[in-house]
Amino acid sequence: MPALLELDHVGLSYHTLSGEIQALSQISFSVQEGEFVSLVGPSGCGKSTVLNLIAGLLIPEQGQITMQGLPREHSVLSVGYMLQKDHLLEWRTIYKNVLLGLEIRRELTAEKLAYVNQLLSDYGLDKFRSAHPSELSGGMRQRAALIRTLALKPELLLLDEPFSALDSQTRLSVSDDIGRILRQEKKTAILVTHDISEAISMADRVIILSPRPAIIRKIVPICFDLEN
Ligand code: ADP
Ligand code: MG
Repeated sequence: MPALLELDHVGLSYHTLSGEIQALSQISFSVQEGEFVSLVGPSGCGKSTVLNLIAGLLIPEQGQITMQGLPREHSVLSVGYMLQKDHLLEWRTIYKNVLLGLEIRRELTAEKLAYVNQLLSDYGLDKFRSAHPSELSGGMRQRAALIRTLALKPELLLLDEPFSALDSQTRLSVSDDIGRILRQEKKTAILVTHDISEAISMADRVIILSPRPAIIRKIVPICFDLEN
């Protein structure tokens, strides 16, 4: 069976008035269904560029991206994207915020509403459904943003440094928390971070990128043997 996602020698440069910035070179990796992969590299190396290419917001200049064996542009795989900022809307309640994606897609079906309600109660936001974002802690806001993304049942979830706005104490518990939710929901995910310990603690596999233009330095499978 073809991989859920495959990048084959992908390269991209940004063309600006002041010149060309080569962001990525020869990036190749694949992600299987159910895997949690982390992409780590220094700031500015091209991590967000990789996610934007996978999301289809950018088109590779070299190489190709396939999803379930089909070229990116022909794929029907649904991709969810969670950004660094939670982008919750202050004038909407938490409930209205988590329904936003479904509302925009006109998919507010009974089945999807039941799923959102289940997520809210499973992940401790039930009591806050009529609160507004400013009444929530940073960690809870991230959880709400995650539920908003999960509501669309993405088959592939992209997370771009989702914890970087949190202080280091909160960050540890929130990343544990979000990792647990994603495993429980059996999501295929790619987490971008510049924090190597976060990557190791959350992912099944860590892809280490070099400084810009990013090439893959190393791919490390993470396997903790709890028996020993
Ligand atoms: P990261 O997410 O690893 O911090 P990015 O993928 O955002 O890095 O950016 C990689 C490089 O490409 C950086 O040097 C950045 O300045 C440059 N870059 C990103 N987006 C653009 C753009 N729209 N135009 C020009 N340069 C860009
Ligand atoms: Mg980035």
